[in-house]
Amino acid sequence: MTTIFAKIIRGEIPADIVYQDDLVTAFRDINPAAPTHILIVPNKIIPTVNDLTADDEKVAGHMLFVAKIIAEQEGIASDGYRLIINCNQHGGQEVFHLHMHLMGGRPLGPMIVRR
Ligand code: 5GP
Repeated sequence: MTTIFAKIIRGEIPADIVYQDDLVTAFRDINPAAPTHILIVPNKIIPTVNDLTADDEKVAGHMLFVAKIIAEQEGIASDGYRLIINCNQHGGQEVFHLHMHLMGGRPLGPMIVRR
């Protein structure tokens, strides 16, 4: 099994990679919703949050720590930013390779549309 993000991680298709280590890769979203919009992705394919196992605790926590590092790199840490992980249909997940959205660079408004 592979994913579009796995191909980016392996360098098989181009992306603007801003961070990479043994556990995660981060690159700019192709269709940004904010001035800074970066995806932080485990190098290992984990389809959704639902698929996390106890063995994945380290990489899951590392995604959050790397978000902090990149926010500093991008100069958005003090103004603030938003981290989002979508899961399955109701979460609006489109790519089934776990990823954390890091968005900032302007006020982002309400978290979700209230009904
Ligand atoms: P999701 O809805 O699954 O949480 O978010 C998927 C995100 O991946 C979307 O924001 C979309 O713009 C981004 N995306 C989809 N395909 C590509 C791609 O080939 N390259 C990059 N850099 N981003 C992608």
